[in-house]
Amino acid sequence: MPSQPRLQAFEQILSRPPIGVEAPAALEDLWARDVFSLAKMKSALPKAVFRSIQRSIREGTKLDTTVADVVAQAMKEWAISRGALYYAHVFYPLTNLTAEKHDGFIAPQGDGTAIAEFTGKLLVQGEPDGSSFPNGGIRSTFEARGYTAWDVTSPAWLMETPNGVTLCIPTVFVSWTGEALDKKSPLLRSNAALNRQAQRLLRLLGEVEIAPVNSSCGAEQEYFLVDSAFTALRPDLQLAGRTLFGAPPAKGQQFDDHYFGAIPERVQVFMQDVERQLYKLGIPAKTRHNEVAPGQFEIAPFHEAANVATDHQQLIMTVLKTTAKRHGFTCLLHEKPFAGVNGSGKHVNWSIGNATQGNLLDPGGTPHENLQFLLFCGAVIRGVHRFGPLMRAAIATASNDHRLGANEAPPAIISVYLGSQLEDVFEQIRSGRLEGSAQTALMSLGVDTLPELNKDPGDRNRTSPFAFTGNRFEFRAVGSSQSVAGPLVVLNTILADSIGWMADQLEEELGRGIPLEEAAFAVLKRTMEAHGAVVFGGDGYSQEWHRLAVEERGLENLRTSADALPVLQRPEVRELFERQGVLSAVELESRFEVYAEQYILAIEVEARLVLRMARTQIYPVAMAYLDRLSQSLRNQEALGMTADRSVAAQLAGLCQALLRDCLALEEALQHHSEGVENHLRHCADGLLPRMGTIRQSADALELLIDDSSWPLPTYQEMLFMR
Ligand code: ADP
Ligand code: MG
Repeated sequence: MPSQPRLQAFEQILSRPPIGVEAPAALEDLWARDVFSLAKMKSALPKAVFRSIQRSIREGTKLDTTVADVVAQAMKEWAISRGALYYAHVFYPLTNLTAEKHDGFIAPQGDGTAIAEFTGKLLVQGEPDGSSFPNGGIRSTFEARGYTAWDVTSPAWLMETPNGVTLCIPTVFVSWTGEALDKKSPLLRSNAALNRQAQRLLRLLGEVEIAPVNSSCGAEQEYFLVDSAFTALRPDLQLAGRTLFGAPPAKGQQFDDHYFGAIPERVQVFMQDVERQLYKLGIPAKTRHNEVAPGQFEIAPFHEAANVATDHQQLIMTVLKTTAKRHGFTCLLHEKPFAGVNGSGKHVNWSIGNATQGNLLDPGGTPHENLQFLLFCGAVIRGVHRFGPLMRAAIATASNDHRLGANEAPPAIISVYLGSQLEDVFEQIRSGRLEGSAQTALMSLGVDTLPELNKDPGDRNRTSPFAFTGNRFEFRAVGSSQSVAGPLVVLNTILADSIGWMADQLEEELGRGIPLEEAAFAVLKRTMEAHGAVVFGGDGYSQEWHRLAVEERGLENLRTSADALPVLQRPEVRELFERQGVLSAVELESRFEVYAEQYILAIEVEARLVLRMARTQIYPVAMAYLDRLSQSLRNQEALGMTADRSVAAQLAGLCQALLRDCLALEEALQHHSEGVENHLRHCADGLLPRMGTIRQSADALELLIDDSSWPLPTYQEMLFMR
């Protein structure tokens, strides 16, 4: 029989009343109801003002103050008509979380009355007390204050919480001296860099009318739902977001039958609720239930402009968490909440394009479009080869390390999967083999069209961290709890840089009087000769690839964040970000410091939690049971029976090991490391393995101890009961 606290949790779960969700409304009535959308601005604003703001959105130009005042007025009226009393500048600090600075619309007047005030200045600029946000030393070296400024390219929205309605304004967060303290500023800058370089290349390809080029993103979010009655009994889930202890369930995901059964009604109701809220926020998301592990689910929005998609992704995470709470669940966004059970990722689907040339990573139907595609795709390959380690660094967190490089997630080696057809095309380019069969030949690049590429998902390689999927790339190694901004900044920047390089090369060839197709081919051939080693179509999980990648292809296997984060300090990375105007050296350094600090903090918190749980929850229960067992064994002997002491001996051994290993971890925690890089290493190599050793003993104890005294909800309970 399970222990008392667990039994109480069961009762709570079984007697949960059904949660009422508002009756389903027509999608047209819900859609973007809570968004101050372009359509709403169009009807609320004078024509000239609307045109001005439209231009700012399209071209990223600064909003002038007279326009801002009019927009602020219209925005305020709309928000107040919807019951809003407050507004908030929403920003995205380096912690992956979303932060808000709330203010009331009400401004007290000298005569004792109050009016609802909201000016262009308040819309465009805010001043949160940012001192509690990590900034990697920027603000201490510069100036303490931080400013938020409205990002016009992302619409404002209303957030309903139990304390009322708030108008939320998406903003960038910068220091007094203009250093980016957030994740949005570099994303906007990386889009601008991409636009600059893509414009150059497109012009060289003979385009005349070229609309602004932007990146797009569709991010698939995986998550777990666990009943909150169980979470309440698990300090590890509450504080670390993952289980630090827990023996594997007798029935695991190996049966793979979990999803073919019906989705529990509670989960269905939860999903409907989430979708409904997201639709009101204008987020085109669809929930799914086809994940690998029990208790695991997925939500995937349709792709949007990368900047808007990023804000929406943050909102999705918020809505998932708050809605789960209302439904008696805890939504776990951690990459590996349960050891030995499939982890959660966030596949970042990414491409670039504009209104005139369309998706630049779509092969297209004409020879000209093909040529354009091959150059842009070649630029991606070059970028990934030159800066694969940076991509690894962009997804380096303590939690994602549990997933990467394990046998169910993308490996920590960054390579590109193209699919067999496209791989063949690029291989032909590399070898200069221009003659060939009708299906694969590129008799003359820019004259023939590519064969129709196979877009069948069956052709996809699930073991690749970065795969071409027909008209976009899918960065599969991104972690489920991460903001997608960091990965997008890196992808945009390395692509901008490679496109710039290609444009330089092409300019040179064309300058020498070489015809366009021939010049493009020469540049692509050069690209593949130097960077083709990053293209890999085989099994990314295999030992053979780990060896081949490192020993023969010269790719790096950065297993942990301790290996990957220092990449941010490499000179070529600093030069890349400076060259493209995305991050200054100071801004980059501050990111290394903040991410390193976050990694260290995460692991040290977990280590302390391991100690506490092992000593105060597991050891006492194990010893009490050992006492009872010993007593019973003595009784048996007193009665002249032969007592089997094997379990008691095992228990005693495990208890001793547990205590000894706790002591070792405690000592390791006190170890002082000289310098950030050593500190990272110490966490990865000194703390994590010791936590693992303690866990081994604890999990073995779980399988020996009388169930009626085991305090922690088990894997089986958490994964299967809802
Ligand atoms: P998967 O087979 O990987 O599960 P899904 O259909 O779940 O694929 O997800 C595909 C995601 O890719 C969606 O969010 C979709 O909107 C997005 N996507 C499609 N085309 C593009 C594009 N051109 N740029 C960015 N994202 C895209
Ligand atoms: Mg996917």
